[in-house]
Amino acid sequence: MDELAAWDDVKNSGVANFPELVRARMLAPDANFIRGEDGRDFTYEDYWLLSGRIANVLAHHSVGAGDRVAVQVAKSVEGLAIFLACARLGAIFLPLNTAYTAAEVDYFVRDAEPSLIVCEPAKASVLAGTAGTVLALDDQGGGSLAEALHSQPSAFADAKTGWDDGVALLYTSGTTGKSKGALLTHSNLASNAVTLVEAWDFGPRDTLIHALPIYHTHGLFTATNTVLLSGSSLLFRRKFDVDEVISLLPQATSLMGVPTFYTRLLSHKGFTRDSVKHMRLFISGSAPLLAETHRGFEEKTGHAILERFGMTETSMNTSNPYRGERLAGTVGLPLPGIEVRVTDPATGALLPPGDVGMIEVRGPNVFTGYWRNPEKTAAEFRPDGFFITGDLGSFDGKGYLTISGRGKDLVITGGFNVYPKEIEMEIDQFPEVEESAVIGVPHADFGEGVTAVVVLKAGQSPFDESGMIAELQKRLAKFKVPKRIISVPELPRNAMGKVQKSLLRQTYAGLYTS
Ligand code: AMP
Repeated sequence: MDELAAWDDVKNSGVANFPELVRARMLAPDANFIRGEDGRDFTYEDYWLLSGRIANVLAHHSVGAGDRVAVQVAKSVEGLAIFLACARLGAIFLPLNTAYTAAEVDYFVRDAEPSLIVCEPAKASVLAGTAGTVLALDDQGGGSLAEALHSQPSAFADAKTGWDDGVALLYTSGTTGKSKGALLTHSNLASNAVTLVEAWDFGPRDTLIHALPIYHTHGLFTATNTVLLSGSSLLFRRKFDVDEVISLLPQATSLMGVPTFYTRLLSHKGFTRDSVKHMRLFISGSAPLLAETHRGFEEKTGHAILERFGMTETSMNTSNPYRGERLAGTVGLPLPGIEVRVTDPATGALLPPGDVGMIEVRGPNVFTGYWRNPEKTAAEFRPDGFFITGDLGSFDGKGYLTISGRGKDLVITGGFNVYPKEIEMEIDQFPEVEESAVIGVPHADFGEGVTAVVVLKAGQSPFDESGMIAELQKRLAKFKVPKRIISVPELPRNAMGKVQKSLLRQTYAGLYTS
């Protein structure tokens, strides 16, 4: 079946919203859906009934259609089921990173005005008074929300929501400025999940190791909804622990992770060709996977990691093929039913393959807009409905997309554009370099000075900075060569493995000016 037809079929089938689709696809209610870290198993039916109980608790606290429910909890099956409960209520699920401080949570609460917050028991008293109701939930099945489940029935009459209704409000992980809330609809999430089930060939035989956080789209939707709509199952882990993941491999068929998962697996002695015998598929995303990691992984295991590209606002846009060539260093082809184009960032004119420009996307997966922010929404959509992702990239002759970095990371030095990834790839080839990040920092003559921050391999410090610069001068046009190469013990990363270049720019802001 072709994937576009699959989503069209869903819309034509009379199924009207995400929970109805979950129900319609639940062909074996007794099949296992999640095995929790504590060994508790939840069948599909158990999970559905749990979501019904949670919906009843929320309704009891007057949560209704369109209301926001903010959730900042440690990873647990109940925590995940709050999403389905909100979808059944017609409410809007708002997950928050567990690392956010009370002051940060305060910003989201003011912006989104949730009528109810679910948080860890220790935070309940701090949050009391900031929103209508505060309920607690821990990862051991405790807290006021968990207790309230005992007195609520599992039967729940779902709200009559439609495909275009909002169901989740996800704040972008924005490393600069205030993060914005992306409002996702039932059809955004359903269409992407249906597409991914087909594209990655998920089915009842599959067991996915789930070691990602559930406050971010990757672990919350990409991993979970693909499983939920394909009759397969999840092995739920609170966090990524490399020993634990290796020990789970024999029970699993697939893993979705950020690049750090793969570099950690690769450097672990217990990770062998034999340990991945049962595995069908390794998927990577949320941050760039080094071509070197891709190749090293394939050499060691025989598996080519499938890299894909998505974002909070759009879910998945492109993917390397399940059947077909998975090209290291690329994020693959546009997914069926999703249009992807590369344009001149200044004029919006379409660019030919090979040229680097702004990546834009259009399709049923693309969010409707930023929460209560029509100006920002208008600024990031073209009049013909394409969303301007902010990522720069180019297509090759076969239609594979390569990402060159975030638009805001582009360095403009003496009027020339420098794409950090090109320089990072050159620097990473030095045998003493583990990894690198190239940034632009203020420079009196050039506007911005190209600057490299590198992590050296063990035992390689100190390194010969001027020798490395001289070597790069042989390989790169003069304007692209870093003026300084600075070594650090590690690059600053956020929870999803993304290098926080804005922090590096702040740290080295005075390098050429003071
Ligand atoms: P988020 O909204 O937190 O999921 O971040 C989305 C951003 O992560 C994208 O706009 C890209 O900049 C980056 N990203 C996601 N997947 C990849 C990938 N496979 N390669 C490079 N960057 C990626």
